Amino acid sequence: MTFVVTESCISCKYTDCVDVCPVDAFREGPNFLAIDPDECIDCAVCVPECPVNAIFAEEDVPADQQDFIALNAELAPKWKTITRTKAALPDADKWASVAAKRAELKR
Ligand code: SF4
Ligand code: SF4
Repeated sequence: MTFVVTESCISCKYTDCVDVCPVDAFREGPNFLAIDPDECIDCAVCVPECPVNAIFAEEDVPADQQDFIALNAELAPKWKTITRTKAALPDADKWASVAAKRAELKR
């Protein structure tokens, strides 16, 4: 099992989640974070930290977000580890209220 970052994170990237991860499982892309499924120990402490509720346990990922399970696994090995919170993207608050934004994902 692992935890999974879903669509709500795209173009927000608030990074509140990374400070609490005990195993540094978060990886940073241009406008999205992914969780490395090989590192995540399923502790769940990152879930309440996310202001846009983007993080789910693998078995609880909503039906319309199932593709993000494979996407996290695919992208995490390509991206660098992020361990400290940093400033959100400049237009994060605008994107936080947008539900459908898969097309915005940069790799
Ligand atoms: S706190 Fe949520 S929106 Fe922010 S980077 Fe983490 S998963 Fe993405
Ligand atoms: S569930 Fe725990 S180990 Fe997995 S990404 Fe979140 S904080 Fe890190």
